[in-house]
Amino acid sequence: MNIALLGATGSIGTQTLDVVRTCLPDARIKVLTGYGKLTLLAEFVQEFSPEVVWVPDDIRASKLAEMLTTKCEIVTGEDNLNACAALDGVDIVVNALVGKAGLAPTLAAIEAGKNIALANKESLVTAGGLIMSRARELGVRVVPIDSEHSAILQCMTPTSFKDGFAGNPSVEKIILTASGGPFRTWPHEKIEKATAADALRHPNWDMGAKITIDSATLMNKGLELIEAMWLFDEPLCNIEIVVHPQSIIHSMVQFVDGSVIAQLGLPDMRLPILYALAGPKRVANNFPRLDFLTAGALTFEAPDTGRFPCLALAQHAAQVGGTLPAVMNTVNEWAVGQFLQDKIGFYDISALIAEAFGSYTVQEVAAIADIREAEAWASGYCNTRGRICTKCFLGVGFDDLVKSDPNKIMR
Ligand code: NAD
Ligand code: MG
Repeated sequence: MNIALLGATGSIGTQTLDVVRTCLPDARIKVLTGYGKLTLLAEFVQEFSPEVVWVPDDIRASKLAEMLTTKCEIVTGEDNLNACAALDGVDIVVNALVGKAGLAPTLAAIEAGKNIALANKESLVTAGGLIMSRARELGVRVVPIDSEHSAILQCMTPTSFKDGFAGNPSVEKIILTASGGPFRTWPHEKIEKATAADALRHPNWDMGAKITIDSATLMNKGLELIEAMWLFDEPLCNIEIVVHPQSIIHSMVQFVDGSVIAQLGLPDMRLPILYALAGPKRVANNFPRLDFLTAGALTFEAPDTGRFPCLALAQHAAQVGGTLPAVMNTVNEWAVGQFLQDKIGFYDISALIAEAFGSYTVQEVAAIADIREAEAWASGYCNTRGRICTKCFLGVGFDDLVKSDPNKIMR
């Protein structure tokens, strides 16, 4: 299996390499891409000897070349990122990019007939209809890496894996679990004053900065709701969100006979990554095991859209459809960047999205150009609402906005 790994230096990217290193001796890394963290990227290039490496520009390309002793082709620029996803000889593209930058490579991979292990949730949120219909047309498999969607897939029959999981008639409803994030028990007045540092302290998962803030606002669950609709071809009314603070049950499927199947495990993204690369086959590994005798009680509660309005906004976008999820995604991405820099407050994120919804006229999505137009409208809206941080606005700055240990393998 030849892999193109897009976003190798991020949380999902580093864990994908850990999975390849420890569990998949026959897998070969053919392409690696990274935006920042060049030292880490150089280490990965030395270890995995990819044929092609992508960085955004020539300055970073020269810096990277200076750090390398192994030979590889270094390419730059947006077109080449898409070309990396479509490279001859690649069997599967792992899209671990963050934000709307992930969409074009997803589309490029599908057009080239490459199967995709998809972590980039913004692709399906903005263009789920186009992605899934084109993937089905071309016989391309889009396998989720997100723990919830992987769980749903694992709860369905292995045949769903082959059929692109389309509309399983035995499914009555999908139960999407949510940890509730770091502010689950905080009152509104306290959440209102929460800082980026508070929001980055997720109780169960260690992830990239953008998704960690999305988890604190519950926007992440809203994005996952829209992803689940597209991936499993289920209407909004068949997907229930349940807060499960322990993050042991990663999601469940209720079947037409009333039976419920759940997928359980420790919060460890390497499992969904491994399943996306090797599933439906089960691959032995030495990851830590769930111990029921020490796990404690598993509890469930309803999500509170009063304290977490981003979830209600995402549910509204899911209901309305068309270009509204793309507008929501762009404004959210920008607002999260602003919040990470302490330029706006926690509830400004939802207020900005709600305001954008109020002044936008939703369009049908017939082609990718409709999504680009909606994103351009949303960018213009953000422009009028604050000083734009060009870096995070391009979806590139999340690495740089948070000080973290670049060599840490995140789980
Ligand atoms: P991250 O910020 O840790 O990593 C993102 C990667 O994309 C990095 O390699 C970065 O250099 C690269 N990148 C960023 N902007 C880019 C751009 N404009 N062009 C090219 N490369 C760019 O993010 P992450 O937490 O690994 O998340 C990646 C995706 O997976 C997100 O969509 C996230 O929602 C989803 N996801 C993550 C987790 C998790 O546990 N981290 C779980 C489920 C889903
Ligand atoms: Mg998730």
